[in-house]
Amino acid sequence: MDTTSAPHRVVIVGSGFGGLFAAKALRRAPVEVTLIARTGHHLFQPLLYQVATGILSEGEIAPATRQILRRQKNTEVLLGDVTTIDLAARTVTSTSPIGETVTPYDSLIVAAGASQSYFGNDRFADYAPGMKSIDDALELRGRIFGAFEMAELAEDPDEVDRWLTFVVVGAGPTGVEMAGQISELARRALPGDFRRIDPATARVILLDAAPQLLGGFGGSLSDKAGEQLKRIKVDVQLRAKVVDVDATGIEVEDADGTRRRIGSMCKIWAAGVAASPLARQLGEKSGAEVDRAGRVRVQADCSLPGHPEVFVVGDMAAQDLPGVAQVAIQGARHAAGQIKRRLASKPTGQPFAYHDKGSMATVSRFHAVASVGPLRLAGFLAWLMWLAVHLVYIVGFKNRLTTVLHWAVSFVGRGRSERTATLQQIFARQALRQVAGSSPPRT
Ligand SMILES: Cc1cc2nc3c(=O)[nH]c(=O)nc-3n(C[C@H](O)[C@H](O)[C@H](O)COP(=O)(O)OP(=O)(O)OC[C@H]3O[C@@H](n4cnc5c(N)ncnc54)[C@H](O)[C@@H]3O)c2cc1C
Repeated sequence: MDTTSAPHRVVIVGSGFGGLFAAKALRRAPVEVTLIARTGHHLFQPLLYQVATGILSEGEIAPATRQILRRQKNTEVLLGDVTTIDLAARTVTSTSPIGETVTPYDSLIVAAGASQSYFGNDRFADYAPGMKSIDDALELRGRIFGAFEMAELAEDPDEVDRWLTFVVVGAGPTGVEMAGQISELARRALPGDFRRIDPATARVILLDAAPQLLGGFGGSLSDKAGEQLKRIKVDVQLRAKVVDVDATGIEVEDADGTRRRIGSMCKIWAAGVAASPLARQLGEKSGAEVDRAGRVRVQADCSLPGHPEVFVVGDMAAQDLPGVAQVAIQGARHAAGQIKRRLASKPTGQPFAYHDKGSMATVSRFHAVASVGPLRLAGFLAWLMWLAVHLVYIVGFKNRLTTVLHWAVSFVGRGRSERTATLQQIFARQALRQVAGSSPPRT
């Protein structure tokens, strides 16, 4: 290796699972790393629903990226929204409130993730926020706790019902976890806090157009999760397609074609993802295929076709793999490994081999489903596994400690430590959108 030339510059886009683990994998490499991300934090998305339902604080699942990487001397962290990747000039252009920054690279790892997809009905977003960012989770927290407050104030019984009906769209892991937690919030945590309403009468509806919940987990675990949801009084409605959403309710079409309306003020969208627009940009510039979810098709080694110096990993890469954290983490480590091999003049182009470590979802306190290798578990043991795995991946000792305390408050006790929701959290997005015209502000 030539040690006299300038250090090899690696630019990483994103501070999620892909971006952070790529940076960490390069900590001892003879490279200069610049990590550029839209937010200053690394977000642990799998626990967003716990921020939305008042169990955890946002800081516990979103530590500052520069603090995580502060001892990694070969790495700098820049705040910026990447708008352009110039494959010919090998530069990344990002914007921030103080202007535009152009960062040159020798190697590039793009891990900009995905956002919510409303399948062409973006106006649903105003009434049924998704859950992809801290902003989303805090807004949902405001809407969920705010709904109980409004129900306490409302005089008309129909209006009280609408405020006390919560609809979660999408019965994948996120939807199941969210519906379970809202139900437990209503029935375990809030009773006793109100004088006019009984929060335990709240309806929590989990809707999906598919015939099965938790489709990726297979029949027996789906059934067991369904039984547990029933026990905690979540009303699961399958083969029910959402056709419209507005401020006061949701229109659903059942399998037999009948349409019906559910009156609900608080709706949550947990269905569908669309890759970062950077994936399409890379596809257009390199000629690589872009799939229906907007992901760019990468080579077996995670590189962009015709650009062995550019890697795309995680949720924005089309690789016939699920959109889960382990795919992003392992893909990022593979990309970093390829860069290190190239610098060490070793052969490159090894295919990325994904090692499936399994999947799990919590249904309620002390009850989860887990599919690990040949093991199919449902109940307390699966919940203990969920607990252990999540604690391992939460970043920082302090965060692990406070998370355990907050879990004890909510799961052993009945409380919710993080119920604070400001009016700004509830209304800021709409206000910002009015200022910004029709384009929704990015979060
Ligand atoms: C609510 C929810 C629950 C989930 N639960 C699970 C689970 O239980 N288990 C599991 O394995 N997976 C789960 N996932 C999926 C998992 O979180 C993702 O697969 C994983 O985060 C993908 O990693 P990534 O690095 O590709 O993207 P992300 O982690 O989303 O990171 C993307 C990064 O890119 C940044 N970014 C985006 N666009 C730009 C831009 N233009 N310029 C600069 N920066 C940009 C973002 O700010 C962010 O830092 C869940 C996801 C969600 C939303």
